[in-house]
Amino acid sequence: MLWSGWGDPVRASELPAPVRRLLADLLGVRAPESPAVTLDEVRPPAPALPASVLDALSSAVGGGHVRLDDEARIRHTRGKSTPDLLRMRAGDVSDAPDAVVLPGSHAEVAEVLRVCAEHRVAVVPFGGGTSVVGGLAAAREGFAGVVALDLARLDRLVSLDAESMVAELEPGLRAPRAERLLAEHGFTLGHFPQSFEYATLGGFAAARSSGQASAGYGRFDDMVVGLTVATPRGTLDLGRAPKSAAGPDLRQVILGSEGAFGVITSLRLRVRPLPEVRVYEGWRFATFPAGVATLRRVAQEGPAPTVLRLSDETETMVGLARPEELGTLASEPGCLVIAGYEGTAGDVAYRRECTGATLSEMGGVPLGPEPGEKWAHGRYSAPYLRDSLLAAGATVETLETACFWSGLPRLYEAVRRALTASLGSPLVMCHVSHVYATGASLYFTVVTAQSDDPVGQWEAAKRAANDAIGSAGGTISHHHGVGRDHLGAYAPEIGELGVAVLRGVKERLDPDGILNPGVLIPES
Ligand SMILES: Cc1cc2nc3c(=O)[nH]c(=O)nc-3n(C[C@H](O)[C@H](O)[C@H](O)COP(=O)(O)OP(=O)(O)OC[C@H]3O[C@@H](n4cnc5c(N)ncnc54)[C@H](O)[C@@H]3O)c2cc1C
Repeated sequence: MLWSGWGDPVRASELPAPVRRLLADLLGVRAPESPAVTLDEVRPPAPALPASVLDALSSAVGGGHVRLDDEARIRHTRGKSTPDLLRMRAGDVSDAPDAVVLPGSHAEVAEVLRVCAEHRVAVVPFGGGTSVVGGLAAAREGFAGVVALDLARLDRLVSLDAESMVAELEPGLRAPRAERLLAEHGFTLGHFPQSFEYATLGGFAAARSSGQASAGYGRFDDMVVGLTVATPRGTLDLGRAPKSAAGPDLRQVILGSEGAFGVITSLRLRVRPLPEVRVYEGWRFATFPAGVATLRRVAQEGPAPTVLRLSDETETMVGLARPEELGTLASEPGCLVIAGYEGTAGDVAYRRECTGATLSEMGGVPLGPEPGEKWAHGRYSAPYLRDSLLAAGATVETLETACFWSGLPRLYEAVRRALTASLGSPLVMCHVSHVYATGASLYFTVVTAQSDDPVGQWEAAKRAANDAIGSAGGTISHHHGVGRDHLGAYAPEIGELGVAVLRGVKERLDPDGILNPGVLIPES
């Protein structure tokens, strides 16, 4: 993973000249005065942990699994939001952990937590490092230091109960490897977020992730049937049946807990048979409201496709254009729906026919498989494009929310207005990314010219968007989580008593507050 950007560095590329010209003409984007710093130019602050703590950590996990070198510390600094990347590109690694610790078992995680609680060292569980909400930058005030607890060594398929279709997997497994391991037995998780190539199963559970095929396979939290969690107060082992009436479901307390309550060391996940057939296709709707009404009907009446998403006019226009055609942005391509089906041949044919009938009845024009295949082919490419845009002097960032269907038009307009008012004349694109019978999520992508203070510029826009989301009745996050970036908006969403409940759980599981301080739990 590129330390200050996304993905495999060999896939990084410069923006084509026509796109740079268009960005300059449309948004006033200018190349930044200084290029991004290189890895060897960056120096993290001197590590703070005393030798006695490092010795205890080495005894816990083995000396070779405590990394103190600059590169390891830099690579565990923050996540992959645009402000994170802007700071890294500018050489700011002030949030670097003092050490990176790689445990190899649940017992080793528990021992690391014991050592860190004893010495008051903050612990940041680290999966793929793809958080986009500031979930990986611990508040270090009051602590002897900060340790990044990288779970990469916990990467096994532990067992598979094919009869129940439940797999036990370790949290440090990145999604592609988890899929490969399951595919050997004919199964899939069906969890394909845009961060698929790098994110881990533990991170998906801890941040309540949702993949692009959620209409068919469900969100990640729907897949979790059991969890083992190491906390400073002992082990939680949760989930012995698919559903239970034995009190509140404590699995839900850990899902979305973002490393603040404990470290997930094992996951029991519902798996599905590998699909025989995959078909993705495109449909065109004249307007976004027409598309939204159609998605609602499909989600409410079923049967659901596996993938169902709707781009608004702007996103459709930008997505359809090839670089050399970008000057034609004034055309009216309508709104693109991608509908995808995965499963057995018979099931795919049935759902495709039913959904197709509804889409046609609601005014959709079939575009055939080409737009669907194009979407499927490029579904993991956008983060690379972000790096190219940042290098060219544009800020590009995403944000997401959700609400019930009846509130969706208001939420959509409110967020667009807030972003536009804050940033002047940005390009604001949106798609409906996940649908349910009762509502849907909206996923916005914003492109704007970088100011002299791009981080401050984005933070102001994000505050405006968060306020708009709150006023319009949306949730502050449908699938990215709370982290540090959403704390201010999260507190009013759950109310004072809700915050007190979170604090109570934290106090019971992590009385010294060493786990990911500053993340998830709003300050009083
Ligand atoms: C380009 C890009 C695209 C993205 N697309 C999507 C998307 O389509 N859908 C989506 O849902 N999200 C998406 N995300 C956000 C991110 O990938 C998810 O939040 C993902 O769940 C994080 O997984 P991770 O392994 O990288 O976790 P990390 O970023 O390493 O950690 C995330 C949080 O979970 C905690 N944590 C990690 N592992 C554990 C563990 N084992 N136990 C306890 N706590 C733990 C961390 O401390 C942190 O607070 C995207 C991010 C990027 C950068």
